[in-house]
Amino acid sequence: MMKLFTLLMLFATVTIPATGSGEEPFQLGVAHSEREQGQFFMVTVTGTHTVPELRFMDRSFRMFLQPNGSWRALLPVENLAQPGSWKLLVRQGVYEKSLTLRVIPNNRPLQQITLDTTKRALKATETELTKVKAALHTETPEQLFAGRFMRPAAGETSSLFGLKRSYNGGPAESYHKGIDISAPKGTQVISTAKGRVVLTGRVEEGFQVHGNTVIIDHGQGVTSIYMHLSAITVTEGALVEAGTVIGKVGHTGISTAPHLHWGTYLYGTSVDPELFEGYSL
Ligand SMILES: [Zn+2]
Repeated sequence: MMKLFTLLMLFATVTIPATGSGEEPFQLGVAHSEREQGQFFMVTVTGTHTVPELRFMDRSFRMFLQPNGSWRALLPVENLAQPGSWKLLVRQGVYEKSLTLRVIPNNRPLQQITLDTTKRALKATETELTKVKAALHTETPEQLFAGRFMRPAAGETSSLFGLKRSYNGGPAESYHKGIDISAPKGTQVISTAKGRVVLTGRVEEGFQVHGNTVIIDHGQGVTSIYMHLSAITVTEGALVEAGTVIGKVGHTGISTAPHLHWGTYLYGTSVDPELFEGYSL
């Protein structure tokens, strides 16, 4: 079965005919046929009561039931994903459909960052790496976000998403997984959308690089992170609305000046948070 599935992934471009199962074929739709690195594809499947299987970029993604009975997935395009054509494959029972989607380069530049010896000596602890990763991979079936996503702090964007980063002249092995909003220490930080607080991490608990951090699960694979806070004003497990104050801007962890690092993730993969700002999903 696995072999057949692999073959179909390579060659299927139209619905595979049913073999007497009596099921109806489904409809597959995508909001955009091409997206940049760091953006996402919105995929909708209608006409089936059973959750469809979805594969894209060598990964399986869970689809989530919508109030109107359709299934949806917001597929992240990783910032360093290979540009070009990628096949989206959806399977439900004996039916398969596929679409070719294009990933285009976002041409984000290389950023040189210089850290002083104190900040440079800071290494992410096992605690923060493990906890942050787990929280960002939260996939709860219920959609908590509703209406527009809000900008979490007032201030200018001082660093864009997706910039490749070199620290103290080293190789560019990482990239900026969010945006930085420049704001004075103590500026209120709000939740971008309704959700549940799945992580609060503090410097004294080992959050040396992230600093004081909050992660919120918005449901259906969407999470957001707020870093370098001077204060955290919510507790793990709390339900927050869009606009609920969750903390204050600071420069804890690896940070050169007071700012909010705001990240948004889909299925644990970082996408550009500015795509969500003012947007209603
Ligand atoms: Zn940042």
